[in-house]
Amino acid sequence: MWGMIATWRMAVEGITKGAEMLKDGGDAGDAIESAIREVEDFPYYKSVGYGGLPNEEMEVEMDAAFMDGNTLDIGAVAAIRDFANPVSIARRLSHEKVNSLLVAEGAEKFAHKEGFERKNMLTDRAKAHYRKRIKEMSAQAASQKLKPYSGHDTVGMACLDMSGKMTAATSTSGLFMKKKGRVGDSPISGSGFYADSKKGAASATGLGEDLMKGCISYEIVRLMGEGMHPQEACETA
Ligand code: ASP
Repeated sequence: MWGMIATWRMAVEGITKGAEMLKDGGDAGDAIESAIREVEDFPYYKSVGYGGLPNEEMEVEMDAAFMDGNTLDIGAVAAIRDFANPVSIARRLSHEKVNSLLVAEGAEKFAHKEGFERKNMLTDRAKAHYRKRIKEMSAQAASQKLKPYSGHDTVGMACLDMSGKMTAATSTSGLFMKKKGRVGDSPISGSGFYADSKKGAASATGLGEDLMKGCISYEIVRLMGEGMHPQEACETA
């Protein structure tokens, strides 16, 4: 038995390829990483990787995480700029005993040292969205300026391979027009993702500030561990 589930339409191509790997006996870590990379690389998704919408200062700051449900090893990066595949950096960090969640310049330094591909993630299309929003904002009343709920969507996945191993992973450019340094739920263990091969795996999408109030992904996995059906666990959590 194997399976893979993900947030949003943008993940279809990635999980289709990941499913091929799993069908051939592939590893849940490899399948989920490759599926998320596919979404990160696609230039027209405005909320993940290349082409993601920028923060207030017109910089694309990305959050990503990876968790191995056999070992409970976790790696994550937050507010990282100028690297093509944050999920791969997160997975690499999951092998570290210490320093496995790195932010901003620290994450970039690590990624550079480890030879990860550098890339300017801000596309012309994303710049155009930014300029349009700036114009709209200057035309609006101060109270309406911040619309944090528009222009985001994390890719989050849960994966099971034939050996019974589960993984969870996320990748996002977070909220469009967020403050520099803002970190959402996606790189935070238990909030944006969780995987325990004995119980299940979960990942979240939605407004990070709300998702972090309840350690929602951990709670879903915990309830599944008590025997709850996944749908019921999500609704209860
Ligand atoms: N959870 C993400 C964040 O708050 C955004 C999203 O999933 O739509 O950064």
